[in-house]
Amino acid sequence: MSYAAFDPFSAGPTNLGANIPLDGAFAPQSGPSVGSMTPTPWLAPERLTISFAPDGTSISGYGSQLFTAFRDWMTPNQVEANILKAFQQWARVASINAGYLADGGQQFGVNALTQGDPRFGDIRVGAIPMHDDVFAVSVAKHPSLSGSWGGEIIFNTNKSYPNVNEFYAVALHEIGHVLGLRHSAHPQSVMNDRALNTQLIGQDINRLRALYGVRRLDTADVGNKNNDSPDKATRIENPGSLHGTIPLIVYGDIAASTDRDYFELSPLSNYEGPIKFELVSSGISLLRAKLSIINENGQLLHEISGTGIRGNRLAFTIPQAVDGMTYYVRIEAADQSLYAQGSYALKVTYEDAVTADPQLIERVLVGNYWQLKQSDVREIFQNPQTYYFNQELMLNDSIATADKLKTSLPFSTNQHFQVIASLSYQADIDFYEIKSPQQLGPDSAITLAVQSIGAGPLVTTLQLFDEQQQLLPTITRLNGNGELVLQAAGIDANTTYFVAVGADQVGDNFDEGNYQLTVRFDQPLATVDSLADGSLSNATAAARRQYHALYVAETQMFHLALTASPSTTRELAQVWVTIYNRQAKPVFRALTTPGQTRTAKSVVLRPGSYTIQVSLADNTLDPISINYALDGTGITDPVGPELLDPSKKPFKKAGPGDPNYVYPGNILSPNTYITVNGNPGTTPQNQMQQPPFVDPNAWYWYPQWLTPTVPFM
Ligand SMILES: [Zn+2]
Repeated sequence: MSYAAFDPFSAGPTNLGANIPLDGAFAPQSGPSVGSMTPTPWLAPERLTISFAPDGTSISGYGSQLFTAFRDWMTPNQVEANILKAFQQWARVASINAGYLADGGQQFGVNALTQGDPRFGDIRVGAIPMHDDVFAVSVAKHPSLSGSWGGEIIFNTNKSYPNVNEFYAVALHEIGHVLGLRHSAHPQSVMNDRALNTQLIGQDINRLRALYGVRRLDTADVGNKNNDSPDKATRIENPGSLHGTIPLIVYGDIAASTDRDYFELSPLSNYEGPIKFELVSSGISLLRAKLSIINENGQLLHEISGTGIRGNRLAFTIPQAVDGMTYYVRIEAADQSLYAQGSYALKVTYEDAVTADPQLIERVLVGNYWQLKQSDVREIFQNPQTYYFNQELMLNDSIATADKLKTSLPFSTNQHFQVIASLSYQADIDFYEIKSPQQLGPDSAITLAVQSIGAGPLVTTLQLFDEQQQLLPTITRLNGNGELVLQAAGIDANTTYFVAVGADQVGDNFDEGNYQLTVRFDQPLATVDSLADGSLSNATAAARRQYHALYVAETQMFHLALTASPSTTRELAQVWVTIYNRQAKPVFRALTTPGQTRTAKSVVLRPGSYTIQVSLADNTLDPISINYALDGTGITDPVGPELLDPSKKPFKKAGPGDPNYVYPGNILSPNTYITVNGNPGTTPQNQMQQPPFVDPNAWYWYPQWLTPTVPFM
């Protein structure tokens, strides 16, 4: 097939040539070898955020150049505008919002909340130089992907984009991936990886809706309720007992460009000061909104329309409330553009009386609180501490008093559960009761995930019990960087289970804090490869270390888990794994303790030879002997820019049409990476350090011992 130049005015797709894919998306494909890689829909799609990495932001060792790289033909504002417009084209057809967030410039992949981190968007956009055979790479969310990689979109600054529409088409495609969509063979689909299309087709929309549902009506518009006219206005509750000290906040959604939402406020009696109405879509969605304030006589007091594409904050203050007067608020789209759909929050404040913390007000406005009733929102302001720490759940300290979790929306019944709570005193343990779905597939697994919230004060444990309160065996998938993910097979349908969340080492500095627990039944049991195993002892210096060679043929993201046998206590011994590149630079490091499986951040390794060093750090003169196992898997398909650049590959295919790579020692394997047990690898051994004995829990939070600068592509 011949290459056809991209014509923005042509209705048909642009064929990029049969051998040139659009991207190297870290979007897992289907297939038996990667069955564990089902992309995961976002947990709170109604409150996604998107941010743009400022130039210089570290993306695995490269400084992002999103704005300078394309400046010859796009202003910084146009860069953002194209990507936001692409996002909005997806978001408007399903229950999805993306709030625009300023990006703090933290390096990509840092420890972070899977969603809702205030420092940067859940979806982050950057650009670095890559080989010129892809336009961009993106990372879909995935259950065994740790750190904050999920949702990242990285454009290739070495790729020349003949025009803005081509850039827009790439953005549309990559956002499809980060929302969980795979490639499509349909020539007009924006998910076709051989074409640049700029309009969603029915197939794209249907596949998105299969994950997130159609754009959901807000509670004021659901069922036979409908606040589209003043006589059906939603009442803003206004308890006189609070004397206007807290803001009144309600949430809504403009689901269609014709949707109008009315709210009604009967102000506090005897209050004659100013009343401020503020409509916020900025940070919540990209809705271009219009706010109108009308009094009970039908008199329009004020009308203001938003502009731009990043959402709006529109405010109007009535200087003096008229006693006994009812006011109406009308919210609608400012125009019939692409930005006519989106969610919002409305805040009403008695300016002379409000005393609530402004930062808390901001959090409640833009955070994931939109499903709360007005009375619950008031609770947050009346008891801000207890609300955040969810301490009423402290009553759930035994199976008998387990907290029964409800299915989280928009998942079908008993597929998915989520709770945010805390371990708030020493030896606190929280029990939850869940029920498995009515039907489960033959290889169904339960996946338990707990994430510490905040800058690392809590290292958790998880336990799974059956209906008879018997402890069930689990496999540790992730344990590090504030995340713990376990899976268990052999799960029965329509059956009660119990989950316990506790602290890993009670009495240390890491046994209290907030966490988010997620339980789901829609992920198959992950499969991992055994990469290396052996034993270590403290008998001699040489016995403390073992080496293995790792050869990587295709750039890919690795997930690695290190297990040590329970031969002694964790106060006496630790096992480290470090992966060094040829230049003796550590590119990955993880620590585990006897009897535990631990992981570190997922790591992207490009083709080359590496040395795996496993070493014992001990704290005793008594003899110690420990067995270890390093398991791992490429959690993405081989990705990226080097796929089609054979000159960059250290390991070549055995011959035309031969699936095997030729690895050192004439090892032939179709695998895109291999390990060789007991082979010292190519790294100069005198340049490899022996990691020290450290506080095994504190290690989780030592950035200098986490994966340092890692080449990305
Ligand atoms: Zn793609």
